[in-house]
Amino acid sequence: MPPQIVVIGSSNTDLILRLDHIPRPGETVLGGAFATAAGGKGANQAVAAARAGGQVTFVARLGRDGFGDAALAGFKRDGLDTRFVWRDRAAPSGVALIFVAKDGENAIGVAGGANARLSPADVCKARRVIARADVVLLQLETPLETVRAAAELAARAGVRVILNPAPARPLPAALLRHVTILTPNETEAELLTGVTVRDETTAAQAAEKLRARGVGIVIVTLGARGAWLAGPGVQQLVPGFKVRAVDTTAAGDVFNGALAVALGEGRALPEAVRFANAAAAVSVTRPGAQPSAPRRREIERLLAASARR
Ligand code: ADP
Repeated sequence: MPPQIVVIGSSNTDLILRLDHIPRPGETVLGGAFATAAGGKGANQAVAAARAGGQVTFVARLGRDGFGDAALAGFKRDGLDTRFVWRDRAAPSGVALIFVAKDGENAIGVAGGANARLSPADVCKARRVIARADVVLLQLETPLETVRAAAELAARAGVRVILNPAPARPLPAALLRHVTILTPNETEAELLTGVTVRDETTAAQAAEKLRARGVGIVIVTLGARGAWLAGPGVQQLVPGFKVRAVDTTAAGDVFNGALAVALGEGRALPEAVRFANAAAAVSVTRPGAQPSAPRRREIERLLAASARR
């Protein structure tokens, strides 16, 4: 049976406008090209976990609007269980307005909309699915009290909790206590610990600081270099895969979704991190957030190719 994963978090629609340059206040820039893309860390991770081989239940809030309809249809195409994707009467679906300039610079505004209204009561409605899950996967784009309620429900049922602390914000002890694995990237690790993470040594220092606060396992993702893994009896770099990167958007989301699946399958930590590195490496070879999340066979192909080398 595939591992049962519950992802609780955000869904956004990215509205992307490519222009010569980012408009200054008061300026209108013509000649842009427009695209929409499904995004939001929660949704990205849920889709990544489903494609990596998990049976995924997504708990989220969408508005009653066209963006919400499109997001929901996408989740269904990826086989997510959407029974706990609520449609909010009072708030629109989450939207990110993204300007991208010719030189690659961007400017982004986000309206969380219905994401900001995902409540502990919503999470509580999914408590039976949470209690039966192999892994619960959380991020920080929904209210902190909701994240905390989810972590607590899972931990009480003995279910492992992965918290991807993104976007970074200070974490209360009442939340950390229920987290099995914390997965910051370099920037997030620095914000949480004050240690500037540049290499293995500094990643190890940041990880130990976080472990001292009660999180058993810390995985600091290090971009192309891979990830630093620190837990009881393990301290090691799990190297990344060499690929031609074209767009690293959502690399962290794909990493977390795949990590949840690998752990849910009962793999040992270093092996699970290697699987997550492989999934994220495939995702950076193509553009977009959700569209770039690889399917299981693509992840396995990269793992097999590197084992042959
Ligand atoms: P985020 O996307 O949150 O900033 P990272 O940049 O640390 O996080 O990337 C997450 C994971 O994605 C890394 O641990 C690694 O496995 C993979 N990854 C990111 N960039 C690359 C790259 N250029 N080549 C190969 N793998 C990458």
